Amino acid sequence: MIRFALRCANAHEFESWFKDGAAYDRMAAARLVECPACGDAHVQKALMAPAIAKAPGVKGRGEAVPATPAPPPQAPVAGGPIPAQVLALLQRMRAEVEKNCDYVGPKFADEARRIARGEVDERGIYGEASEAETEALRDEGIEVAQLPWVPRSDG
Ligand SMILES: [Zn+2]
Repeated sequence: MIRFALRCANAHEFESWFKDGAAYDRMAAARLVECPACGDAHVQKALMAPAIAKAPGVKGRGEAVPATPAPPPQAPVAGGPIPAQVLALLQRMRAEVEKNCDYVGPKFADEARRIARGEVDERGIYGEASEAETEALRDEGIEVAQLPWVPRSDG
């Protein structure tokens, strides 16, 4: 199961669980994913799938943590297609994240806290986190980056 933060055409944000990314794609294309607030079925991912955590204030083992990528240009979330240059940039960022970070799935927030507390080896991680979880992590001083998660360039 995978949880996506979604946004409807009326800018309501909500979360929903899907069997996998492909299941979401199918359901969204068939307009089977509806906003609980207004019933709108024109939903899209709210662009917060992956995030990178880094233990605050820990230095010296920098190689274990990839440089946090620069934030992308404000992604056009209003529904238009992503410009090709931006898409290419985001695809490169995704490839870097996948190469350098461990995927922890929906346990992202828990794992980020364990890293921050030094309970596990410091490393870059990525996974799913809700807006609320992301804000909570930031409140706790844990560095989190949100990247628009675009399809891979190789399909
Ligand atoms: Zn709505």
